[in-house]
Amino acid sequence: MTTSEKVLCRLCGGGYLDSQIKKTTAEYKGVQKELEVMYSVCRACGSEQAAANQLRTNKRVMIQFKKTVDGLLTGKEVREIRERLQLSQTDAARVFGGGPVAFSKYESDDVAQSEAMDKMIRLAGDLPSAFDYLVLRSGINHKPSGNQRQAV
Ligand SMILES: [Zn+2]
Repeated sequence: MTTSEKVLCRLCGGGYLDSQIKKTTAEYKGVQKELEVMYSVCRACGSEQAAANQLRTNKRVMIQFKKTVDGLLTGKEVREIRERLQLSQTDAARVFGGGPVAFSKYESDDVAQSEAMDKMIRLAGDLPSAFDYLVLRSGINHKPSGNQRQAV
C-alpha cells in the first residue's frame, strides 16, 4: 500500500516521503513469523522514518501475531462472533464488560483481550444459553432480528 498524500520529511524538510512496506521477522514466545511493517523513506535525504499512523498499523500487526501465538481470538474473529450475536460494540461491552471502547480496541487489534474475556466471548458464541444468561444479567434490550434464536 502506498499513499499519494505528500508529506515532507521532518529531518531535512526538503523531500517528500514515500510509504514503503518491508518484511521483518518477529519473535514472540519462541515463535517466529515474518510480518509486514510500514515506514517511509525520504526522497531527498533517504532517511527512514515512521509516521504515527504507520506505527499504529505496525503495532496492530504485532498484537495480532501475539494473539495468535497466545491462542486468543484475533480482532477479526472477535468481530465475527459479535456480529453473529447481533450486538453493537457498545452492547457487547455491556454484556461482556471491559469498558465502553473495549470491543473497538479488540477488533482493531489495538489491545489483546484477557484470557478470561477470550473464553467468555467464545462461550457466548458457542452456547446460546450462556449468551442469553449474560444478556439477561447485563440488562440490555437485545432483540436479534434473525429467528434462529428464541428467547428462553
Ligand atoms: Zn529528508
